[in-house]
Amino acid sequence: MELFPFKANGLNIRIFQNLISSGNNKQIMDSILVVVAHPDDESLGAGGTIRKHGDLGIPVDVHCMTGTEIRNEEMKAACSILGVRNLYLSERDDFAVDMSLRNEVVGAILKTRPTIVITHFSGDYNVNHQQCAQIVFEAVEWASHTTIFDDAHRVKRIYNMEINTLISRPHVHVDITDTYKYGLGALKKHESQIKKADSFYEKLYDARTRLRGAQAKCKRAEAFTITLPEHAGPFYRENSVEKLI
Ligand SMILES: [Zn+2]
Repeated sequence: MELFPFKANGLNIRIFQNLISSGNNKQIMDSILVVVAHPDDESLGAGGTIRKHGDLGIPVDVHCMTGTEIRNEEMKAACSILGVRNLYLSERDDFAVDMSLRNEVVGAILKTRPTIVITHFSGDYNVNHQQCAQIVFEAVEWASHTTIFDDAHRVKRIYNMEINTLISRPHVHVDITDTYKYGLGALKKHESQIKKADSFYEKLYDARTRLRGAQAKCKRAEAFTITLPEHAGPFYRENSVEKLI
């Protein structure tokens, strides 16, 4: 199944394939879950991609690990520009990000049943971003155990996005030429951060999406690495396939 079938005449074909392959899990349509450490990461790392998928009819849900009353208000405004379906917020402090959050992410996965999860890149300079990437990796594995959860769910891929630290060898670039403006508009809703940083974030998003666009032969792009998830094993039927391609 194509995970980014932008240039295909996608929708009907994709849904058809998905229904065929849905098998044991209860998922009947593709969706994306974005898990981030802080309000603004969703816009800066994947704003154009989130909006693009929503426009293509693929629902996008966002789960944020930390926040404050003000930052959560900004997050709501940003996610509404990005066309997000469900937004899960927290008022947890930045310093309270640790592995105990794994179950919260498992809950978000079981509730939203995403085909793919987008989260941080583990090589990011920011410690919370590194922690978030690790928590998501473990949560994806944990959520797949049918021996633990009646409604266990297998995520097919994890896509890791970039914020400040550039990914040296991205696996995929998403053409966001048409949805960059929504990503930027959403970013600007995070006023408390924007002001503090003297336009740094807008400049970064502008420059990075143009760089990625140049590399991907389009005007603007967002880059990701793909992580194959660990899934529950070794005794699950879902671990075997009929053929490789
Ligand atoms: Zn962040």
